[in-house]
Amino acid sequence: MPGAYAEFLGGNMAMKRILGALCAATVLSSAAFAEGYPERTITMVVPFAAGGPTDTVARLVAEKMSTDLGQQIVVENVGGAGGTLGAGNVAKAEADGYTILLHHIGMATSATLYRNLPYDPLGFEYVGLVTEVPMVMVARKDFPAADFPAFVEYVKGNADKVTMANAGIGAASHLCGMLFQSAIDTQFVTVPYKGTGPAMTDLLGGQVDFMCDQTTNTTQQITGGTIKAYAATTPERLAIFPDLPTVAEGGLPQMEVSIWHGIYAPHGTPAEATGRLSTALQFALADPGVTKAMADLGTAPSPAADATPAALKTKLETEIARWKPVIEAAGVYAD
Ligand code: ASP
Repeated sequence: MPGAYAEFLGGNMAMKRILGALCAATVLSSAAFAEGYPERTITMVVPFAAGGPTDTVARLVAEKMSTDLGQQIVVENVGGAGGTLGAGNVAKAEADGYTILLHHIGMATSATLYRNLPYDPLGFEYVGLVTEVPMVMVARKDFPAADFPAFVEYVKGNADKVTMANAGIGAASHLCGMLFQSAIDTQFVTVPYKGTGPAMTDLLGGQVDFMCDQTTNTTQQITGGTIKAYAATTPERLAIFPDLPTVAEGGLPQMEVSIWHGIYAPHGTPAEATGRLSTALQFALADPGVTKAMADLGTAPSPAADATPAALKTKLETEIARWKPVIEAAGVYAD
């Protein structure tokens, strides 16, 4: 047996040498990766339709991140199933730093809303938080209610007739609508779209009655008078609409919600890539043009300390835990 033992020892030594070489190669390749990254166009998946609120935020930051990275970030809209379709695509994408996802609070709520989510919301790599966006309850221009209390009364009294648009189960508009339905203890018909961009087109055309949507999609129409605004979902009134009451002022504090956005990468994406993307995100969020554009849309960039992988990870974990009991109490699920 000594021969076999010697052979085992020799094999073991050879294995150690191979492992050592592999480790060195890994260190070398990640250093080389960090130096060269990014070398080509990056795709940023937005899990909602073009022209909507998430798309607007994504395009704003993608442009400035591209400047910092020296490579183009192209936005790809993959709308459907409340954002879970696009998120699912990114979960399956190559973990090479060239496919990323910009998603919002739906990343946290869909963890409970979907019984069979085809990916693990906590299984992504993190880049950082982008912004928090308030929502506003809006209705078609000729909706027959003068203020928020009258709106609530009308909806309760006409539950079999009114229709509310949303961007599918898992969307922010869905979450806000779910909070609204449970706050007024009334069920009405909801109409799902691939994003609130197309939903807004139908609201403007009067094909649907109302929706709760981010200010990044509603501000221009409210200012232009093409839709009616009833209440903001923030604890304080919005600086851009100081005359608009909050949901709490209207007696429904249960509807308070703020839509935070974050950037993710597929599981296994090298930390060098997510770190570099995080730096680029911080660069974009510090840009005065981005700050101004966001302020005009009723929001603000996340502080640099939050535009980090660690901050987004903490936020997602906290928000999954926060919304789980709310969703379970509402009893709303999708398969
Ligand atoms: N943010 C979505 C969009 O961009 C809509 C939603 O979440 O309700 O269309």
